[in-house]
Amino acid sequence: AAKAAGTGCWRMFSAEMSEQAMSRLRTEARLRAAELRGEFELFYQPKMDPRSLLLRGAEALLRWKTDEGYVAPGDFIPVAEETGLIGPIGDWVLGEACRQAAAWRRQHGDLPVAINVSPRQLADADFPNRVRVALAKSGLPAHLLTLEITETVAMTAATGDFAMLRVLRDIGVGMAIDDFGTGYSSLSHLRRIPLTVLKIDRGFMQTVPHDVAIPATILELGQRLGLEIVAEGVETEPQRDWLCDMGCQTIQGFLISRPLPAAEFEDRFLVERARAAG
Ligand code: C2E
Ligand code: MG
Ligand code: MG
Ligand code: MG
Repeated sequence: AAKAAGTGCWRMFSAEMSEQAMSRLRTEARLRAAELRGEFELFYQPKMDPRSLLLRGAEALLRWKTDEGYVAPGDFIPVAEETGLIGPIGDWVLGEACRQAAAWRRQHGDLPVAINVSPRQLADADFPNRVRVALAKSGLPAHLLTLEITETVAMTAATGDFAMLRVLRDIGVGMAIDDFGTGYSSLSHLRRIPLTVLKIDRGFMQTVPHDVAIPATILELGQRLGLEIVAEGVETEPQRDWLCDMGCQTIQGFLISRPLPAAEFEDRFLVERARAAG
């Protein structure tokens, strides 16, 4: 900042921009204290087989509960990434998701859980170790944890070295490419990244079933690569019908449920599953 001021660059900031900068600083300061204050919470959204409606897993989504209510990830994850706070926050998410999944496993049986991982976390050479520690501490088997990384990050990792993704895959954790179709992928890289899951971005669901050219192509691409396909943002029955016809294994979206607090997810989906199984 001193350097910017020294070159006179500060002059270019409008009042509106500095207000934005102040608001970011406030968010940063509050974010720093949030973990200690116990303000983070994971919500869980079910993933289901579109045909049988059997539960296939859950995605853990971070929520920040402040005095003014919940702050959406879109409003604080970018700040956390820029400031490096995503490191400790991401560690908290990793530890908490493993703890919860292991506890549910003991009580209700296996439930695969996916967490979102940011580019900053993957830039840390120690990240695979952090995953190992979280698994060991919780006792969660590695195959019940999947890491969701966005397409652009996966591709960047692939152009540099994707050794870390391979190490993580070798530990046994699942690897999902998130929001697929919104970034830009090199198809040759897609082949080389050690993926297990491809998540079709919810933007592509909006035109289903009247315009299916792109989602159908992505589905087929993923199937040919031997990946599990998860369709995100499934909101309607006609979308579900189409995905059944296409042989999509997993759907996630408001049609089934919004992300729920852990206790509510447990009641609605895990207790229910155990009851149905007799
Ligand atoms: P994402 O990983 O692609 O997560 C899916 C987002 O779509 C979630 O938003 C979810 O609430 C929303 N969603 C699910 N079903 C539907 C639907 O049927 N219709 C619509 N319109 N939306 C649906 P959310 O929870 O606000 O999270 C937004 C993004 O924030 C996530 O996108 C992810 O990139 C990021 N994020 C969330 N939790 C974490 C975290 O723990 N760590 C990191 N690094 N990023 C996170
Ligand atoms: Mg995700
Ligand atoms: Mg997504
Ligand atoms: Mg997203």
